[in-house]
Amino acid sequence: ADARSERVAVARDVNAGAASIDRAQLASDLTIAIDAEELFLQYQPKVHLRRQEITSVEALVRWNHATRGLVLPSDFIPIAEESRDIVALTLWTIRRSIRDQRTLAAHGHELRIFINIAGVLLADARFVRTVCALVETSGARLGFEITETSVIRDPESAIANLKIFADIGIVIAIDDYGAGLSSLAYLKQLPARELKIDKLFVTQLTSSNRDPLIVRSTIDLAHALEMEVVAEGVETQAAMALLSVMGCDMIQGFLISRPINLDALIHFLAEEKHL
Ligand code: C2E
Ligand code: CA
Ligand code: CA
Ligand code: CA
Repeated sequence: ADARSERVAVARDVNAGAASIDRAQLASDLTIAIDAEELFLQYQPKVHLRRQEITSVEALVRWNHATRGLVLPSDFIPIAEESRDIVALTLWTIRRSIRDQRTLAAHGHELRIFINIAGVLLADARFVRTVCALVETSGARLGFEITETSVIRDPESAIANLKIFADIGIVIAIDDYGAGLSSLAYLKQLPARELKIDKLFVTQLTSSNRDPLIVRSTIDLAHALEMEVVAEGVETQAAMALLSVMGCDMIQGFLISRPINLDALIHFLAEEKHL
């Protein structure tokens, strides 16, 4: 190899080294962050189109890092999954959602709260037992968003555990439908009541030729399987109107609201009109 490409290769190694140190640092910070109250939740409402009301919200975790400021989930969820911190993080998220659901109820808002559940947790018997205890003692109305990709690792235990969750009243939603490795075999077997069409197909719905066809056939498929459909990433009135015509049940996206803190959600819910 000539000198130049060697230099490039060395530079690449140095960068890769820096990135992995950074990752290791972030991973050890995260372990502390969970106890240090550096995590917080934001909620994003889902609007039921026919009922014209908000029936549920999705909880999205954020990390207010002591020195880096706001860190987004795409930067730390993968790290948490590798380090097993995902268990503590998710249990923290569930406990906080249960607490916030009580606060919402005290303000007259009965909402189901959906939580994102990483695939590794679906094979974790202790996690499942802890969740069952939390739900049964609190009576909370929760939903779990899972991806089909997360089931592929260990389909047997994932499906068995999802049935346990469904049996105690947790609504299972299939997240990011169409974006990852979709399998109609799993779609048939999962005890899911909701299907969320990935924003990949929704954000350009009204300017694309193919996206409307994909979205419509997905809605029809989900309805045939007796699931309700949520379109995520709805950013425009035009997209909402088209989804409504297509029979989509619920929408979520910046058009309705960005993810917001609990206080802001309470204010938002107190307003008369959301559409
Ligand atoms: P997701 O579950 O697909 O969440 C939806 C993401 O889309 C959120 O990004 C949300 O802010 C964003 N979004 C919402 N409406 C719109 C829209 O109209 N347009 C566009 N362009 N984007 C929209 P966020 O909050 O950064 O979350 C990213 C991902 O991080 C989530 O994707 C989810 O997979 C993961 N995540 C978040 N919280 C948790 C958690 O507590 N546990 C686990 N395991 N994963 C989480
Ligand atoms: Ca989600
Ligand atoms: Ca999603
Ligand atoms: Ca996603």
